[in-house]
Amino acid sequence: LVTAIPGPKSLEALQRRSEATSGGLGLAFPAVIERASDAILLDIDGNQIIDLGSGIGVTGVGNSAPRVVDRVIDQVQAFTHTCFTVAPYMGYIEVCEKLNALTPGTFKKKSLLVNSGAEAVENAIKIARHYTKRQAIVVFEHSYHGRTNLTMAMTAKNMPYKEGFGPFASEIYRMPMAYPFRFDGDDAACSAETLDVVTHKIEKEIGAKNVAAIVIEPIQGEGGFIVPPKGFLPGLAKFAKDNGIVFVADEVQTGFGRTGKMFAVEHENVDADLITTAKGIAGGFPLAGVTGRAEMLDSVHASGLGGTFGGNPVACAAALGAIATIEEEKLVDRANVIGKIMVDALNAMAMKYSVIGEIRGAGAMQAIELIKPGTIEPNSEAMSAVIKYCQQKGVLTLSAGTYSNVIRLLPPLVMPEHLLVEALGIIDEAFASL
Ligand code: PMP
Repeated sequence: LVTAIPGPKSLEALQRRSEATSGGLGLAFPAVIERASDAILLDIDGNQIIDLGSGIGVTGVGNSAPRVVDRVIDQVQAFTHTCFTVAPYMGYIEVCEKLNALTPGTFKKKSLLVNSGAEAVENAIKIARHYTKRQAIVVFEHSYHGRTNLTMAMTAKNMPYKEGFGPFASEIYRMPMAYPFRFDGDDAACSAETLDVVTHKIEKEIGAKNVAAIVIEPIQGEGGFIVPPKGFLPGLAKFAKDNGIVFVADEVQTGFGRTGKMFAVEHENVDADLITTAKGIAGGFPLAGVTGRAEMLDSVHASGLGGTFGGNPVACAAALGAIATIEEEKLVDRANVIGKIMVDALNAMAMKYSVIGEIRGAGAMQAIELIKPGTIEPNSEAMSAVIKYCQQKGVLTLSAGTYSNVIRLLPPLVMPEHLLVEALGIIDEAFASL
């Protein structure tokens, strides 16, 4: 750091930000960025910030990753837009071929490309409803699926996502989530008992035959990196299969190597019928996808799906560069290396600091849940204080959790070890300062 955060130039720019941009936008890190590389954000005052957020899990391949930049430049010079449903192009087709091949499941798959994670979830619901000719959608406590009207209805947390934005879409049913840290019993009981409640509620309160889709994040992201206990996801997938319900894995945050597998459902060998992707797919370009069983993607009449910008050629070129980077640089393995460094350091902190209730996650997606010492009562004040301390030392971390008491770490998968170790040292200092 060469100035305080924010520095004088950032302060002035943030003043312009507040004059010009909607007050409805949040601000997690008060510094204005000029350049960024693998895991460093350089602000306009010349400060180098260590990035443990990747723009909310997007730049796994790093910022301006060379393979992304090269392909984007070539594509921008070739053409920038035709609309895929007006006059198609190879980039869109190639990204879909990649998604069909990379997602788990040996059945025939097809894909659709859109612009954002929320739009991917919306389209998965359209497909599931059209395919099943049913309407009800099952979602879970602590879930996050987006900010459009339908996905707001599917998202669990009221403030800030839903407050004052209703009325919400109908036919959305929320079920209890298997959340081991907040369950009185071991993991096996948490999985079995929660599954039991969920299936019972679906049968008695909705009627399984009325359910089009069960939608779940294999590891919940915004909800606080809640990792369901072993058996919960396979149990849900089986219930879905037995009842003709489409099982949708929302892998918008967990996909593309983040959790140490290409997709998080692979940790338990679950084949989702549909998988939604976004964030890490295209190295920072707006692109998202729905991938799944061919008969489901094909059940919709021509022109029932689509949109002007969906699968934009520049975003597709970026995705092909990002996917090539993940494959050629073996970033799925890197996620596990990074994960181990984080888990070791965070577990050591958990031994020292009684505000740490739990360290959890998978691969390079790790979180710290903070509690009032000696209880499991959420401690959002401690979360804010730690994030603020890290900010002042030039380390960007993100908050999460229904109770705003979780610090989540989503470092770029290309992050050099010495930077990660330095950042973890600052998190440790932050806890010591409480
Ligand atoms: N689903 C999940 C699991 C997410 O984490 C997010 C974004 N945080 C979304 C959907 C929505 O994605 P977007 O912000 O691109 O609309």
